Amino acid sequence: MPQPKTQNNQHIKKMADLLRQGATLTNLACPACHSPLFKLKSNDLWCAKCQKKVIVIKEGEETAKATSHMVLDTMEATLLAKVQEIQSRMQQEKNIEEIQKLGTTLSELLENLEKIRKIKRS
Ligand SMILES: [Zn+2]
Repeated sequence: MPQPKTQNNQHIKKMADLLRQGATLTNLACPACHSPLFKLKSNDLWCAKCQKKVIVIKEGEETAKATSHMVLDTMEATLLAKVQEIQSRMQQEKNIEEIQKLGTTLSELLENLEKIRKIKRS
């Protein structure tokens, strides 16, 4: 399994987990990686990608529901694109082991997709 794909999935999974734990998405971006920042219950700003607390000097922090939905939509679209990619690779793949690996990735992607849709509905 290629590394970047796994890391990307992990990142999305972490973002979904943070939202479920009651963190809110802010309209601020991480100065290091430009990922959207989360505001934890402790009021700390957290970057899910860098996995660290971020201190933003600029004020103007406000949680925007619109931003939050936009990010979820983007994550959903990314996951759907990956699902389609894996599907077409599975159709062409002859190696059983590779097909199994792709199948595992596919089910992980679908699991994440389901989580995002659950968050969107709540
Ligand atoms: Zn970051």
